[in-house]
Amino acid sequence: MARSFVDRVTIEIKSGSGGSGAVSFRREKYVPAGGPDGGDGGRGGNIIFVADERMSTLVDFRYKRKFVASNGMPGQGKKCSGKSGEDVYIKVPLSTVLKDAESGEIIHDMSSGEQFIAAYGGNGGWGNRHFATSTRQSPRFSKPGLPGEEMTITLELRLLADVGLVGFPNVGKSTLLSVVSNANPKIANYSFTTLSPNLGVVAVNEDVSFVLADIPGIIEGASMGIGLGYDFLRHIDRCRLLIHVVDASGSEGRDPIEDFNTINSELSKYSSELAKRPQIVAANKTDIIGDNRDKLNELKEYVTSLGYEFFEISAATHFGTNELMKAAAAMLSTLPPPAAYEITYVKPEVQIGTADEVSIVNEGDLWILEGDWLSRLVGSVNFSDHESRMYFNRKLRSSGIFDRLEKLGIADGDTVSIYDIEFDYMS
Ligand code: GDP
Ligand code: MG
Repeated sequence: MARSFVDRVTIEIKSGSGGSGAVSFRREKYVPAGGPDGGDGGRGGNIIFVADERMSTLVDFRYKRKFVASNGMPGQGKKCSGKSGEDVYIKVPLSTVLKDAESGEIIHDMSSGEQFIAAYGGNGGWGNRHFATSTRQSPRFSKPGLPGEEMTITLELRLLADVGLVGFPNVGKSTLLSVVSNANPKIANYSFTTLSPNLGVVAVNEDVSFVLADIPGIIEGASMGIGLGYDFLRHIDRCRLLIHVVDASGSEGRDPIEDFNTINSELSKYSSELAKRPQIVAANKTDIIGDNRDKLNELKEYVTSLGYEFFEISAATHFGTNELMKAAAAMLSTLPPPAAYEITYVKPEVQIGTADEVSIVNEGDLWILEGDWLSRLVGSVNFSDHESRMYFNRKLRSSGIFDRLEKLGIADGDTVSIYDIEFDYMS
């Protein structure tokens, strides 16, 4: 059986690099050497994720796995800036969570509906016109653009259902969903019917509705050796309430209390959080119990003694299903809204090259520093923020670059030029 529902894919993204600044001088009739007019490089394109409410799977990513934004164009003469690289927008379902593919840390939860810039394009380098001063009228240098960012991201669907159905295979979860909601799941009398999660809207009355999810269970995958394992359980991660469906008829020769406990212990193996989620117990298939109510009564006594609400239903005949849904809606109204995922990912300080490889070029009182290590550092610093600037200073000092400058004879008040920033040197 193929798993057709695509709910997890790993993609690569890369934002564009900035274009380099231009070295150029004005050419005018009768003017031997015009001033510098080299324009700046364009910014590289960003990679931006957009939540699309109409999308429900990640199937679009099955074949397209690489997203690259274009680089900024180099600057031109006559102060012309290079064109910026175009941003790339990646549409994903609202229920998508972005994770760092390697660590599994959460980068972003798209459920807020807002756009998210996952990889920023590099800034363009400055053209030589920025570097003209009274003592330096013809700067023959410009700056290269900053590199873009590369990431490998796993997209994962986390369905946004309010209520999740859990229980053994064949207890009637899909039947219940089809009876109480607008969903149309597959129903069959074998233990592996549900390969993909089904969602349905349950309208309790004109004003109250909620989303109910039927997910393929843990037991289903495990018993078939198909290896779904706990995979699908993450879809009920965000459910605020679980309806635990039990086959009370014993029609499959199983013990309802044992089933109930098995499912709960599987849930807690997956997540202690999920095991604590409020549950309502629904004893299904009461239409075929007849006079054989012993098992049903035992189950009722057992779960109510544990504090669960208990309902007798028959999904097949619709007996008790409305009452069950009303109770679910009532309980939902007392529960807090679903929490967004906590962001656990911090963009790493990418180290490319070393501080020792940074080149130093001296032109008069100007010291031009360049190198991959430095361009990354500059890219990670927000120069309008004091803390961030202090961090930058500390990094430069501890890198040994200032020592090198001093050995080469830098004097206080000289200008240090690093990509698109300049500052006066103070020992
Ligand atoms: P799931 O695996 O939990 O999703 O179970 P399904 O909804 O696919 O149902 C499994 C089988 O049980 C199907 O043959 C259903 O027709 C049957 N079934 C479901 N609910 C009831 C019920 O209330 N009474 C009876 N007699 N059969 C039911
Ligand atoms: Mg099913």
